[in-house]
Amino acid sequence: MEDVIIIGAGISGLATAYFLRKQGWSPLLLEAGAKPGGKLQSRQEEGYLRDMGPNSLLLKGQIVPEWLRELRLEEDIVEANPLAKRRYILNRHRQPVALGPSVLFGGNLLSWRGRLRLLGEPFRAPRRVQDGEESVADFVRRRLGDEALTWLVDPFVSGVFAGNPTRLSVQATLPRLVALEQDGGSLLRGALRARKRKTPDTPKTRLISFREGLQVLPLRVASTLGAALRCNTPVDQLGNSDGIWQVSSGSQTWQSKRLILALPAGAAAKLLAPTDAALAHELDAIPYPAVGSLSIGFQRTQVEHPLDGFGMLIPRVMGLETLGVLFSSTLFPGRAPVDQVLLTAFIGGSQNDLAGRDDNDLLATVLREIGPLLGISGDPIFSRRQIWPKAIPQYEIGHLDRVRRIDALSARHPGLYFRANWREGVALGDCMEAACRFSQDTDWQH
Ligand SMILES: Cc1cc2nc3c(=O)[nH]c(=O)nc-3n(C[C@H](O)[C@H](O)[C@H](O)COP(=O)(O)OP(=O)(O)OC[C@H]3O[C@@H](n4cnc5c(N)ncnc54)[C@H](O)[C@@H]3O)c2cc1C
Repeated sequence: MEDVIIIGAGISGLATAYFLRKQGWSPLLLEAGAKPGGKLQSRQEEGYLRDMGPNSLLLKGQIVPEWLRELRLEEDIVEANPLAKRRYILNRHRQPVALGPSVLFGGNLLSWRGRLRLLGEPFRAPRRVQDGEESVADFVRRRLGDEALTWLVDPFVSGVFAGNPTRLSVQATLPRLVALEQDGGSLLRGALRARKRKTPDTPKTRLISFREGLQVLPLRVASTLGAALRCNTPVDQLGNSDGIWQVSSGSQTWQSKRLILALPAGAAAKLLAPTDAALAHELDAIPYPAVGSLSIGFQRTQVEHPLDGFGMLIPRVMGLETLGVLFSSTLFPGRAPVDQVLLTAFIGGSQNDLAGRDDNDLLATVLREIGPLLGISGDPIFSRRQIWPKAIPQYEIGHLDRVRRIDALSARHPGLYFRANWREGVALGDCMEAACRFSQDTDWQH
């Protein structure tokens, strides 16, 4: 009998296994893939270092930085180039403009009407919490106006969450924004108050990766787990009798009173369907659009744009399929050979279905679209694609209620727990912090 079984060795499962071991548990971690990390995968090819899923990790608070120190990863960290503070956005004239006060209030992105609307934000009354959930689009329209939604927030939401702001719940997707409004009565006053509360001890936020790509993190966690992690072990069956969970992969079976599913919601639904159809139905209803991540290399001289920033976001209203482009070789060192540059373009998401699209067609589309925007001439000298058919869970309106229903239904199955990015945030940092807090729950105290 195993102490605890965890299924799925993405960052959620790995972090959960690590923190539970710290509490004295001996989890067995079963992973379908050949290596741990889930969406966190990096590859070195032809002198390029590409991250195929997430590209950067935002450090805030204390839990994750402390964990990286414990894992002795401090030395491997690379900080984002200070230029990464500059973020380009495509304006209506198809020019990438760097976001900042001069663009917001200078006329390159918003009309005078849009700017006035933005300036009026602090004078608009806050919404009452009891008025319930609101979409990201409604929240932004109400506080900042239509133009801010179209030119600022929609491209951000498409680029970061691959989502549709009219469907995403602001309470679930951007809770910090809601908290600013509730705390200060307006976003501006809320942000000023939050800034005032900072002390010299408040940890600074840092945008980081690792010298050899983000994959260093799951590989290091895996090395601390040793034989407790079993890769190439796709779990195909789950059952429960007399409070004991049976977990099978092919001809192998393990048993435990405690089972943690650190899986995408659809994968968890599939395994749970024979045990609890209602629970499986709720899990399966969480949408996960497809996203393609395309790594594209050029000679530096082929690209006119200075690439002096984090990247460029593209508002959906421009009618392009590309969601945005990261200037990867600017962001972190060692991503491209000398005199060459690496761009990472994203395509797909909730507003742009990739079903039935051929990989070559996606690359051609991205090149056709971003070529004129960044002044690219000639063909790329390096290109690789990674398509994630179910990339990022969408916290749509009703998501928080759905998670509550999932928790209520799973309470009928003692010893069953969930850990994954469909619960407490999709960012890597959120997954890690949530795993740490989970291990400190009373359920896990010996
Ligand atoms: C294209 C893209 C870009 C992103 N960019 C960023 C970024 O820059 N910064 C950031 O913070 N976040 C980013 N994210 C989000 C972040 O990468 C994810 O939210 C996070 O990696 C999810 O981790 P997870 O462990 O919850 O799930 P996953 O990584 O999906 O892990 C689930 C694991 O379960 C395994 N599994 C599935 N079924 C079974 C089974 N039956 N048996 C055994 N194992 C199974 C899978 O093989 C996988 O390893 C990005 C995501 C994508 C897709």
